[in-house]
Amino acid sequence: MFYGKKTMQSENIRFFNTLTREKERFVPIEKGHVKMYTCGPTVYDFVHIGNLRAFLFEDLLRRWLEYRGYTVTQIMNLTDVDDRTIKASRSQGVPLRQHTERFVRGFFEDIEALNIEKATQYPRATEHIPEMVALVKKLLDGGYAYKGEDGSIYFDISKFKDYGSLAKIKVEELKPGARVKVDDYTKEEASDFVLWKAWDENDGDIFWETELGKGRPGWHIECSAMSMKYLGETFDIHCGGVDNLFPHHENERAQSESVTGRKFVNYWLHNEHLLVEGRRMAKRLGNYYILKDLVAKGHESMAIRYLMISTHYRQQINFTFDGLEGAQKALERLRNFALRSLEADGKSADQRLRGLIEGVEKLFGEAMDDDLNISVALAHLFDFVRDVNNFLDEGKVSKEDGQEIHDLMMKFDKALGVIGEVKTERELSQVAEDLIHKREEARKARDWKTADQIREQLKSMGVLIEDTAEGIRWKLEKK
Ligand code: AMP
Ligand code: ZN
Repeated sequence: MFYGKKTMQSENIRFFNTLTREKERFVPIEKGHVKMYTCGPTVYDFVHIGNLRAFLFEDLLRRWLEYRGYTVTQIMNLTDVDDRTIKASRSQGVPLRQHTERFVRGFFEDIEALNIEKATQYPRATEHIPEMVALVKKLLDGGYAYKGEDGSIYFDISKFKDYGSLAKIKVEELKPGARVKVDDYTKEEASDFVLWKAWDENDGDIFWETELGKGRPGWHIECSAMSMKYLGETFDIHCGGVDNLFPHHENERAQSESVTGRKFVNYWLHNEHLLVEGRRMAKRLGNYYILKDLVAKGHESMAIRYLMISTHYRQQINFTFDGLEGAQKALERLRNFALRSLEADGKSADQRLRGLIEGVEKLFGEAMDDDLNISVALAHLFDFVRDVNNFLDEGKVSKEDGQEIHDLMMKFDKALGVIGEVKTERELSQVAEDLIHKREEARKARDWKTADQIREQLKSMGVLIEDTAEGIRWKLEKK
């Protein structure tokens, strides 16, 4: 049995570290335990599937580390105060907390639908103001920060000699006194950046009275405060999309290392973007899709998960509906295979099967250890599926071997998170009947949300339902 075998922590995991621009062997600070910080959503609106690509990459990374036997502490912040959240809540005349709460809930629904493992904690920026103030005070005391004539406090980038080395920009001529007060800006605008923003009328009632004066934190100090609070001054991995590299991560690093005098993060991993027609999917470009809208149109969230994780995280993905359909097919092929192997009852056993089973586990693992090379890992997996399917066609897979293959697929799925539990037809019909009954109850209670969720759950099990005048009909999807 494969479950019985303890997977050893791999000494061979290598990640491409943005800091060095090289693939490096991964060695966590504490043996067997990985501490990672993943920049979370800015909850001013619903996240789009581009943002979800980042969270899915981080989920795959985390699951792979767990597959290899590491314990992972993952912290994902919720950016619930910054320029965008304030602007959105003020323009809609809704208190900040009430405004962000709606999108926090939406975010949790999305990650659940995508089978993203829950982070260890989701700290909110608004609940960590004292920690941010403490950091800014230390930066002021150490001479790394100064108060501008507008009352805001800025980080002096000339005081951090390594400034620009993460995002690989040369800040050749430091313009004395040049500074930015907005949270997000481009490399060309590199200059002193804001740590604490003195209140102005655009902030309305969003401010904190602190030792730094009446105001609110800049975006970058939020992540320095929350990451170091939960993970310590130096931790293993920090992730985010490539757009976060500058200014966000560059500034986070400058602030944190200036305070502690120590290395902030050992491995920086950045995912590439999800594009639409060649351009980054982004709210401000208006070219975005929301998970719930795609699901409402009949797309399965697991297919979206598959689509996102099946391309290497450092490659861009161009989102198309053809691509999504392809992902759905690939996913069904895996599900079908897991089910077929579970139902295998061949009379003879082909000697080559053993070699295939051992081979795929090794090759899949080696590919994933190599900076999560999912394309190669999946290619090996589909070769295996094809070869074993041939044996299954010929009745050459015994019940025991079939069970072992099924268990191996479930083991891979701990990392991939796309197949889920497969059920034989007899088991399935019982579960489906129960779910259909529950859905009926929900519909009677006019709880459309639950009813829709159950329909989606049934679909992911391959059960299609039809509401007819005579009642509910259901059938198994033809694969
Ligand atoms: P935000 O809510 O803008 O702070 O972004 C949350 C996460 O989504 C960050 O890691 C971003 O880098 C990432 N992100 C934003 N847009 C995209 C995109 N089109 N593709 C992939 N990741 C993205
Ligand atoms: Zn962040």
